[in-house]
Amino acid sequence: MRVLAVEDDPRIAGDVASALTDAGFRVELSKDGEEAWFRGETEDFDLIVLDLGLPKLDGLTVLRRWRSEGRDVPVLILTARGSWIERVEGIDSGADDYLAKPFQMEELIARARALVRRAAGRSHSVQDIGKLTIDLNRMQVRVSGRSVDATALEFRLLAYLAVHHERVVPPGELLEHLYGDDDAREINALEAVVARLRKKLGAGIIGTRRGFGYYLSDSGP
Ligand code: CA
Repeated sequence: MRVLAVEDDPRIAGDVASALTDAGFRVELSKDGEEAWFRGETEDFDLIVLDLGLPKLDGLTVLRRWRSEGRDVPVLILTARGSWIERVEGIDSGADDYLAKPFQMEELIARARALVRRAAGRSHSVQDIGKLTIDLNRMQVRVSGRSVDATALEFRLLAYLAVHHERVVPPGELLEHLYGDDDAREINALEAVVARLRKKLGAGIIGTRRGFGYYLSDSGP
C-alpha cells in the first residue's frame, strides 16, 4: 500500500513515516501543500495522511482541490488539538477521517488500515482468496493453512493484489505501489519478486494474464 504523508514538522513526519513503514506501508513524504497537491493530483496513492497547517498551500485548500478535481483517494487529516472547527471543515471538505494532535502512532496505523480496507470495499482485515489467506493487520500469509515467510516487499505485493483481487493489476501500477515513482524499478525487478513469491506460495496462487498483469487466483483448493 502506497501512502503519501504530508507534514511540515520534521519530527512528526519522521515518526509517522517510520510507524507506517513498520506497519507494511510504502511511505513517501511531502513537506508543503503545493507539492502535496501536485503529487496527489498526478500520482496514485492508497492513502494520504494530510496535516492541515502547511507552508505554501494549507491542507484544507489542498483537500478541496483534490475533491473538486474528482480525486477520491482516502484522506486522513491531522488537526490541531481541540480544534473542532478544523475537524468539521476537514470532513466537509472531503476528509475520510481525522486524528487530533498529539496522537498515538498505534491509532494512526489502525485508522490508516481501516481507510484502505474501506476504500477497497472490504471490512475485514483477513482475506481468503482461494488457497491464500492474508492477514493485513498481522502481516501474515498462509497457503492452505501453512504459514509462509514473506519479506516486507513480497507482503506489500500480495497485500496490493489481495485488496484489488477482483481485477488484473498491470505491472506498472504494481511497480509504482511497491517502489514509488522516485526510484522506479525495471519490470525485471517485479518479475523477480513474483517468481520468488511463486516459489514460496506454490503454483496456482499468483496468476499472470499476458499483456495485462497479475492477479490472485480464486480457484479453490
Ligand atoms: Ca504543520
